[in-house]
Amino acid sequence: MKIETKFIHSGQKPDPSTGAIMTPIYQTSTFYQEIPGKHNGFEYARTGNPTRHALEKNLAGIESGKFGVCFGSGLSAISAVISMLKPGDEVIASSDLYGGTNRLFNQFFAKYNIIFHYTDFEKSEDFEKLINSKTKLVWIETPTNPLMNIIDIKKVSFWLKKYSKINFAVDNTFATPYLQNPLEIGADIVVHSATKYLGGHSDCILGAVVCNKKTISEKLYFIQNSIGAVPGPMDCFLVLRGIKTLHVRMKQHSYNCKKIFDFLSKHEKISKVYWPGDKSLKTYKIAKKQMKDFGGMISFVLKTEKTKKINNFFKSLKIFTLAESLGGVESLVCHPSTMTHAALDKDERDKLGIKNNFIRVSVGIECFEDLIEDLRQSLSKI
Ligand SMILES: *Cc1c(COP(=O)(O)O)cnc(C)c1O
Repeated sequence: MKIETKFIHSGQKPDPSTGAIMTPIYQTSTFYQEIPGKHNGFEYARTGNPTRHALEKNLAGIESGKFGVCFGSGLSAISAVISMLKPGDEVIASSDLYGGTNRLFNQFFAKYNIIFHYTDFEKSEDFEKLINSKTKLVWIETPTNPLMNIIDIKKVSFWLKKYSKINFAVDNTFATPYLQNPLEIGADIVVHSATKYLGGHSDCILGAVVCNKKTISEKLYFIQNSIGAVPGPMDCFLVLRGIKTLHVRMKQHSYNCKKIFDFLSKHEKISKVYWPGDKSLKTYKIAKKQMKDFGGMISFVLKTEKTKKINNFFKSLKIFTLAESLGGVESLVCHPSTMTHAALDKDERDKLGIKNNFIRVSVGIECFEDLIEDLRQSLSKI
């Protein structure tokens, strides 16, 4: 079955009790048992809920995995993966990460003596230097947030072939399963903030992990039930509904984003644009091979560093909304240094180039001409 069909049908059947075509929102905390232990597959909604179950099966299908496990947010999904480790274990992660992931690793899990190392995954020598007998997990994002760096998933999985004890996890939030399927090219674990493109309408918070190995899935279901960071049935319903149009949205997000790149990259008030489809990048070839298209995320740097001028830009926008998050049908702009990446220390941010004049855009699926006009008029106010 092709991916577009999977988005709509994977893991979903008409509801057995009523024939409803759409999986109902099973808003219940507990389930009837005829005699102790005899029930219809569900006992208590933390352990399992039919709406969540349908979403978990759908997610497994669309990521080419066997097992889907849902959590109350992207970060609780990431926590669940790190919770598979024990104190003393080590993780090698990509240096450019979502701010919340960075905070979770360095300010939360570090306290439990999980050790995190960072590298750019360009040269195998740099990576190999960080490996030892305690290394249990490799964690990457591609494209990265907010610098849109591309890591070659196939290359990293090739490096990992000789280390059977190291699991390879990819945060696939930015690309989505429409643009790339990490499990098909060597990853063991895929993580999503379904809050973003999978939900697609900025109306719920949800996270997911997908994997193929039974041993990993058993650990994750145990953690899901033990920690209890599960999403409610309404949010599961919203994400199931969102996924049905993922391919249609991603095509438009990608198309609009390319148009915006063409506009921004020629603009006199902008010094740099970050977009994986930029042909001048040395990672362009990898992005082209690894992804079906380049997605809807783009970042840029204004030439000015004057806060007043930068604020004028934000204030003048009429269609773009200044807000955290991404992946919805509506276009958003974000100021990573004070918003998504505020948890990083300033030196670290400066080193990455995420300064006051760095702006991230989540390009929506409005008419691109309106979006460009909005950027043009607000850039003229600087
Ligand atoms: C938003 C985001 C997360 C965190 O997800 P939440 O649903 O907000 O908890 C993790 N990774 C990436 C790449 C994100 O964009």
